[in-house]
Amino acid sequence: MGVTNLWTVLGSCMEHDVPTSSFSGQTLAVDLSAWLVEFSKVKTKGGRRFNLCVRNLLYRILHLMSQGLKLLFVVEGKVPDVKRNTMIQRQKQNFGALSPTCKSSQLADRSSFNCYTETSCELLDSLGVPWLRSEGEGEALCAQLNKDGVVDACMTEDSDVLLYGARRVYRNFRRVGADSYVDICQMEDVESDLNLNRQDLIAMALMIGCDYHKQGVKNVGKIKSMNLVEEFKAKNLDPLERLCGWRENEELIKHQAVLSSDDRQQMHCSKCAHIGTVECHRSGGCEPCDTQTDCRADSDPCHCLLCKARVNKLELDLRDKALQDALFPHHDIIKEFLNFKCDNLESVEVDYKPPSLSKLIAFLEQYIKIEGEKMMKHLCVAFLQLQLKHISKFSCLCFKPRRIIKHCKHSHRPSYEIEWEKLDSDIWTISDVYTMKVEREQFSTNFPVMAEEYESQCMRTLEGKKRQKARCQTTVDDFFKRTKRLRSVKNSGIIID
Ligand SMILES: [Zn+2]
Ligand SMILES: [Zn+2]
Ligand SMILES: [Zn+2]
Repeated sequence: MGVTNLWTVLGSCMEHDVPTSSFSGQTLAVDLSAWLVEFSKVKTKGGRRFNLCVRNLLYRILHLMSQGLKLLFVVEGKVPDVKRNTMIQRQKQNFGALSPTCKSSQLADRSSFNCYTETSCELLDSLGVPWLRSEGEGEALCAQLNKDGVVDACMTEDSDVLLYGARRVYRNFRRVGADSYVDICQMEDVESDLNLNRQDLIAMALMIGCDYHKQGVKNVGKIKSMNLVEEFKAKNLDPLERLCGWRENEELIKHQAVLSSDDRQQMHCSKCAHIGTVECHRSGGCEPCDTQTDCRADSDPCHCLLCKARVNKLELDLRDKALQDALFPHHDIIKEFLNFKCDNLESVEVDYKPPSLSKLIAFLEQYIKIEGEKMMKHLCVAFLQLQLKHISKFSCLCFKPRRIIKHCKHSHRPSYEIEWEKLDSDIWTISDVYTMKVEREQFSTNFPVMAEEYESQCMRTLEGKKRQKARCQTTVDDFFKRTKRLRSVKNSGIIID
């Protein structure tokens, strides 16, 4: 997905195996179709695959939410014209078998991928998780949201996202037990470590291929294109601009002509590397060496057209291959990456809404056969964490604490066990309240009054106990003192009545 092998090219400047819990408090744009493609690769058949997809989606959302990550999903809209062919092929591969929930009336005009997407959006709606529909590719809108500062990072496998302007990308999500990890790619690092900016990546994509033009330039891979971009940079040329001007570049046309003409047979001196032979130079001197007889081994390189062309060998070679494609440099692709913009973003609601529990549970009963009460447990933990981490910018305060039950440890950190008011719409949980643990510091930040009251109450109880203990101690000491005195009296033989 995305630019062929781009993740490998960028591998050296990426951070690997970063725990997602370290992003707590961040807002992420999630490219839904990238997740759906991933889930659809699970090897199982028909309806079961569909249900598994819903299940994986739900558990991943709840897992990330319970780590305090706010998710904003992006659904792809109309496939850009430049990508239509690739898209149709990919969807056939991944979502070939139509899901059983697609009604027959829908079959005529909707692909099964849309069916996966629609069901996923239904799940997001019932969870109250916001989602946006892109006016094109999903990763394009993710990038825009990241660029505009609406989200802290994008979560996608599609490397195109960087070409669309994303600054921070999380990919390769994986669960390991209760934890999860991703690899991070930051444009800041790509720019400083590899000296590649967004335009350079687009230039590379045109050569090595991307979703919009799979094959790229024939026989050109990541190494050649990287080398060429480096060469351009060393000469202070902008790689993308240079590629765009390849067809009309007079100098390159001349060089190409020299390289393919008989002139390349022209002799160069083995001592000074200028035109002529050692023998000629020895007797008649060499003009570029500025000598009357002989020549110099340490003089400047030759500036003849052939030598200049040879220095440009890599560029000429790639140019020659690229221009065999009449459409090169594919201005439509460049435009797609650089000019993509969804306009109506300001008016869009991107905040969470309270989950619609009845809708959600009915939905889940249909797809993953989970009991309401069990589901509520997962939901409560996830929503509570999300609420606590984003309380200042959260409009749906679902959970209200009733009281702190006791101090405890949670994930090895000092925490409180807290009783929370039950949600009005929760008809599945049998108990009248929820009991959930929260880190002490986090709770105190969000509910300072309750935490302070509890702590001072604990302090009073502790002091009371101390006093009582001290009193007990005095009584015990007295007892021993008296016994000791008695014994010593006994031993001395004096009898006391
Ligand atoms: Zn010479
Ligand atoms: Zn010379
Ligand atoms: Zn020369």
